[in-house]
Amino acid sequence: MNLQPLCSVLGEQRVSTSIEDRLVYARDASRMRGECLAVVWPSSPEQVAFLVEWARQEAVDLVPRGAGTGLCGGAVPQRSVVVDLSHLNAIKSVEPEGKLVHVEAGVVLGTLNRRLEPAGLFLPVIPGSHRAAAIGGLIATDAAGLRAVRYGLMGNWVQSVTLVDGSGQVRHLSGKALGDVVGREGVTGFILEAILRLAPRPRERTVTIMAFDDEAALLAQRDRWLAEPALTALEYLNRHAAALIGWEPRHHLLAEFDSDQGEIEDPGQVRDLWRDRDGLYPQLARCGHPVIEDPQLSGPGLAELLRWLDQHAIPAFGHLGLGIVHPCFAFDDGRIETLYESVAAWGGRVSGEHGIGLKKRAWVDERHREEIRRLKQIYDPHDIINRGKLS
Ligand SMILES: Cc1cc2nc3c(=O)[nH]c(=O)nc-3n(C[C@H](O)[C@H](O)[C@H](O)COP(=O)(O)OP(=O)(O)OC[C@H]3O[C@@H](n4cnc5c(N)ncnc54)[C@H](O)[C@@H]3O)c2cc1C
Repeated sequence: MNLQPLCSVLGEQRVSTSIEDRLVYARDASRMRGECLAVVWPSSPEQVAFLVEWARQEAVDLVPRGAGTGLCGGAVPQRSVVVDLSHLNAIKSVEPEGKLVHVEAGVVLGTLNRRLEPAGLFLPVIPGSHRAAAIGGLIATDAAGLRAVRYGLMGNWVQSVTLVDGSGQVRHLSGKALGDVVGREGVTGFILEAILRLAPRPRERTVTIMAFDDEAALLAQRDRWLAEPALTALEYLNRHAAALIGWEPRHHLLAEFDSDQGEIEDPGQVRDLWRDRDGLYPQLARCGHPVIEDPQLSGPGLAELLRWLDQHAIPAFGHLGLGIVHPCFAFDDGRIETLYESVAAWGGRVSGEHGIGLKKRAWVDERHREEIRRLKQIYDPHDIINRGKLS
């Protein structure tokens, strides 16, 4: 692999084959490990287009990487060059009247929302990783998160995207064509910029937490809260997860409202609660359960899943408003495979928000595989970008 052309165009300090960088970039937050040949940090669309042409000549594949918080190995290289887009991090313009923002892909969501605060606006897609995850990664995975029960997924907030595809062509996509990029986990190209829609920040946030001893009562309360127009988040913690983090060992539901109907009204207390909620997965990981899953179910299937997790004493939490549950396991826990099989049998999806990446390739159905092959023909016929992911 001849890196000299990259060093000439990007600058030597933006190309690395050091053992430290290759080790760091060999994994993402899923803790899956691959093999990273080199890391590059482009700083313009022209440099990304150049990289694509170079990769085609060298017959090497490129892996787009945002913040590396992905939980399914999507940014894990397989003898690939990792393209870290974090240097493309400009907030190019904010239009408060039109509620729009124009950003580069490496902008971190938390940074963007802090910048929008004085305008009374925010991008309301708030995954647990919102302090670190980047806009390009959020679009590529069509991220959900804590307030998706009110605001929907990332795709709802994308007005247009600038993409460099696998032929090095710069494409400006909007409308229906966004479906070729949003949630496609980077297999169709590098998202470099986006125009995003914004929401007004709620003036008020109040929270109620309720504890339950059985799933039926918890699910009945879930249904009651889902009918509340002021509901903005509906989160869940089962009794095994509660016990591990020092809460009363019962099943919990946490509902947030943008009205005064929640029991906890003090803004400081509400902020602290959400901080604790953001720290849930790292805490469970520290307690020996680092492998996190994200099945999504509805109706009787959801009730089956909650019961199954309880019977097997598997700690779990999640965005119950959407039916997305995060069971957490130790490495190599054989029950993960049983979980996937059961979720399929109960009519659910093995991934509600984290994506397929490398981790869940075996669970992609033939129709979806065919769709990825079709998109590859259009956007990346030489299979240069995220080769082998999602298929
Ligand atoms: C503690 C924790 C909590 C989390 N909570 C949630 C949650 O509540 N909801 C949720 O949905 N997810 C959650 N996640 C998962 C993760 O944060 C999201 O998937 C996020 O969208 C990934 O963003 P990233 O910038 O880190 O992307 P990366 O991990 O770098 O990449 C993810 C995928 O997107 C591709 N990609 C990245 N940038 C680009 C780009 N510019 N162009 C093309 N493709 C690109 C990569 O190739 C890869 O396939 C959580 C993760 C952690 C560690």
